[in-house]
Amino acid sequence: MSKPNIEDIISFMSQFSEEDIKQINDKEHEKYQDEYKRFIDAYDNGICYLCGKPFKTISTNNPCLHWLLRQCKFRAKDFHKIYKKYNYHQIVSFLRWIANTECFQRNINDLQEEKRDNMLIESTIKWKNIEWTFSCTHSDYAGHEGTQASFPHYHFQMKIDGQIFIKFNSHHIRFSDEDLFNISITQDDSIPASYSLGGAGGSGMQDALSLDPDEIIDSSIASDGSEGTYHFSTFIQANSPEGISGDVIQDMIDESKRTGKTIASLADKYIGDLGTTKTIIAAADSVPEIAERKGRSKK
Ligand SMILES: [Zn+2]
Ligand SMILES: [Zn+2]
Repeated sequence: MSKPNIEDIISFMSQFSEEDIKQINDKEHEKYQDEYKRFIDAYDNGICYLCGKPFKTISTNNPCLHWLLRQCKFRAKDFHKIYKKYNYHQIVSFLRWIANTECFQRNINDLQEEKRDNMLIESTIKWKNIEWTFSCTHSDYAGHEGTQASFPHYHFQMKIDGQIFIKFNSHHIRFSDEDLFNISITQDDSIPASYSLGGAGGSGMQDALSLDPDEIIDSSIASDGSEGTYHFSTFIQANSPEGISGDVIQDMIDESKRTGKTIASLADKYIGDLGTTKTIIAAADSVPEIAERKGRSKK
């Protein structure tokens, strides 16, 4: 198995008309919605939609992604059974859906700006007391030449209650052909197709911060910061040397407390011509940090 050639992908794509592509996308979207609905209905009943069994059960001869929720007696040494059956795309998509059942987007740190330079893929996903991290450096993607892991692969870490359960270095997990195709698409802008793990149920912080800033501000409600998706910092600068009266600021804060509207969304109305306002939107502190992979240059 080798990485797909960019030219091959482009020539493959060029056989489809715009209409074809729209049809394919619509069909994919329908399939996705349908699968997601099955996932949610089963999840709400404590059942895994993939194997049809409760999350608490494990059948060693039928490896399943729900093992990773650790509601059953899954042992770290059986992890290879999961990735021999499911590819990267399937594992990461499933865990993103799981994470979003608890709270939307902010359990998934897939922020491009937090990704370290040598990383091709780096994301940390959180759900209840569990944290999963996917990691692929450019060297992993190329394959570690002259070692047993000379093929394109990624590394995976799982923590339970903050303790490492599966170590990054324990596995070199082979990307499937589908994975390699998906990754190639994201790496080259000249390919007229896109690949995203977002969609209805798998959306993470990268999607959250890619929205129109005005829309984010207008649709957000204020909270004490413990359970938001975003963190707003609003700066107000007075136009005149006298500054802005404390009463105006107090009224604004009062309305925010009363109505749940953010300061960011109220600032224009209260400050008006008195000054200029600027809001910086960032990921909330409750978004998990991307787990660091030590000594990754060698492994
Ligand atoms: Zn299952
Ligand atoms: Zn590696």
